[in-house]
Amino acid sequence: MNQSASKTEFAKSIAAEAIEFAVSQGVVRYTKDGGVSHLPFSLAPWPCSHAFYDRGRLATQVYSRMYHQVATQLPFLEESLAKLREADDFVEGLFSCVSARTWEKPWIYLSRNDFMPSGSGADCWPKQIEMNLMAASLGCASEKVHQILCNLYPPEVRAKMPPNPAGSGLAAYLAKAFRQVCSPDAQILFIVPEGEVNAFDQRMLQNYLQFNHSISVRRTTLAEVEEKLEERNGVAYFENREVGIAYFRAGYSPTHYHQKAWSARRRLENSSAICIPNAPTQLANTKKMQQLLSRRDVLSAFVSPAETDFLLNTQVVMSGVDETVEFRGQNAVARELALSAPELWVLKPSREGGGNNFFGDDLVKKLNEMSPVEAQGYILMEAIIQPTQVGVRAIDGRVEESACVTELGHFIGSLYRPGIMEPESVELFGYLQRTKDVANKEGLVLGGFSFLDSVVLE
Ligand code: ADP
Ligand code: MG
Repeated sequence: MNQSASKTEFAKSIAAEAIEFAVSQGVVRYTKDGGVSHLPFSLAPWPCSHAFYDRGRLATQVYSRMYHQVATQLPFLEESLAKLREADDFVEGLFSCVSARTWEKPWIYLSRNDFMPSGSGADCWPKQIEMNLMAASLGCASEKVHQILCNLYPPEVRAKMPPNPAGSGLAAYLAKAFRQVCSPDAQILFIVPEGEVNAFDQRMLQNYLQFNHSISVRRTTLAEVEEKLEERNGVAYFENREVGIAYFRAGYSPTHYHQKAWSARRRLENSSAICIPNAPTQLANTKKMQQLLSRRDVLSAFVSPAETDFLLNTQVVMSGVDETVEFRGQNAVARELALSAPELWVLKPSREGGGNNFFGDDLVKKLNEMSPVEAQGYILMEAIIQPTQVGVRAIDGRVEESACVTELGHFIGSLYRPGIMEPESVELFGYLQRTKDVANKEGLVLGGFSFLDSVVLE
């Protein structure tokens, strides 16, 4: 039997047991009929080079500090996003949430930095897809998949799988930050979208906080916050209990907002509650800012010369749609470059949460009908192209295998005191690895495009 066939055979042999573990650990999603089924997950950990993994962790730490520098410079955000906010009401809405009180409160980040591999072995570089400073999800589910595979694979494989405390680490970091900056009687609000489908990953985090860290968590929506948030002597209360932290797992999409929701967001930002993330952070995290920060002259204002070189090595070409860009030795308008070779580009609006990007024929159609004003709301990004490997996974109780590509996101938390640019603490805690059939362009796990995976270092 060749190596690939034996890998698949072994993966199939553990499928039934792995699925039972997944359900028992809460690695589940709602089905259309209102039941629950396991999330799609890998049955064979994905081989990654040390270089890809280690450089990704290092870059995540540098990006994390860089984004704090960017988020705390409101005039820079205003200048950089002036055209975007004209083209995009959602961005304008976020600007309206920036409050003078933001600058008086500590800043807490719970983020995930996503990369795809480019090159191989020691020359493999992580190429950044995006930093998620808001609602970085699936840490808990990812940790569980890692544990399941560690249990079912033999010791010689397990020894090469780096630890992945993505969920427990996230909870521990949030708990530590809460104890450092909040009153012990306060609670954490988890702000979730109405009709959330990713409930179980959030429930796992809630479990850790309540049962392992004895911190009170109240799961709610922006609409309910609008009804129940009160301020007494400058302190925020929800249902008569102080709000220490408002942790947003909603609010990254215009569909999460209506008049009441915008009002709730503004009131939280303008209250004593620490917002994770706050409005300036979310503005710093727009795709437009990411594109600007791919320019050496812009990036170098926020990090050292050596860090600038390093971060630029983790980036692919990005451009405004109607701007001139240098690509593979050619200077041309990005729109023209993308129309002549659409498979080399991704068209991205300033949106989060997956399912928003345009690839291939859709990209061509969209670019052809897009006015110069609408184009201000989009960026073009070079497609990251990587070699495929066989991915074996469990999906709805079945085992599937095909040629796949992967993306690895490193979780990081940090805490800054107001006005102080050095972090009081920074911690990396595990990863989310998502793998997908090479034909799938989007990366959503809940949407069924990709599956949860685990790293084996080679
Ligand atoms: P969102 O904010 O909606 O999550 P992303 O920028 O993360 O948007 O893109 C969503 C998904 O699209 C990614 O997880 C990845 O699978 C794919 N993708 C995005 N950018 C690229 C790229 N430059 N090359 C290849 N795939 C990409
Ligand atoms: Mg993303």
